[in-house]
Amino acid sequence: MGSSPSAPTGAERDLAAGATVPRSAWRRPSPPRVRAVRNRLREIYGIPSAAPHRRPVEELVLTVLSQSTSDRNRDVAFLRLRRRFATWEEVRDAPLAEVEAAIRPGGLSRVKSARIQDVLRALPDPVSLDALADGPVPSARAALCALPGVGRKTAACVLLFSFGMRDVPVDTHVSRVATRLGLLRPGGPFDELHDELLAMTPRGQELELHVNLLRHGRRTCHSQRPACAGCDLRWMCPSARTRAR
Ligand code: SF4
Repeated sequence: MGSSPSAPTGAERDLAAGATVPRSAWRRPSPPRVRAVRNRLREIYGIPSAAPHRRPVEELVLTVLSQSTSDRNRDVAFLRLRRRFATWEEVRDAPLAEVEAAIRPGGLSRVKSARIQDVLRALPDPVSLDALADGPVPSARAALCALPGVGRKTAACVLLFSFGMRDVPVDTHVSRVATRLGLLRPGGPFDELHDELLAMTPRGQELELHVNLLRHGRRTCHSQRPACAGCDLRWMCPSARTRAR
């Protein structure tokens, strides 16, 4: 049985309130604390695994399509795109309106279609990202982030899921849960959150930590009304301690 939670500190109050904590006032979590969170998530969700699929262009397009929509709508849009066009070169060279029509079920189709074509035009002809597999990770990440509209999260998805490289995507669920759990600095910019989460992730467990934080964000640690009372991480969560008062 867990003991009664102690009174929250000022930083914990800030954390629960969603306030920004200055970099000078922030202390990185210790490796044992990170391992404790990882272990608790592992007890709840298991150890996810997925072999690198080695289709980086597909992963890149999927990540663009995933913005501001559900996984289901993203997948419908992606399937329609692949059915409508046989190759990535055809997607690149098609009239914008045809690409937009194909991905319409994914939402924001005007913006996403233009972004997809911009990215494909910035890649070699024939379209490929296979050269990234040669690494090293920092240069592969830099090459991806130099593409139009591609940021750290998208780059991390491509590197991790396509090639099994060491990177950890930080999306809205991962950043929210990790921040509430005290792993990341509240209010930190996304580049910092990526650098910090990557630095604290045990080598070889990048996919596990990303997927399990994401699952917890979807199932329990919701954006508006986190289900703290039934959360299995409650006794190690500074935000829960504050929320309980
Ligand atoms: S106790 Fe659980 S649900 Fe509540 S803020 Fe912490 S991690 Fe999220």
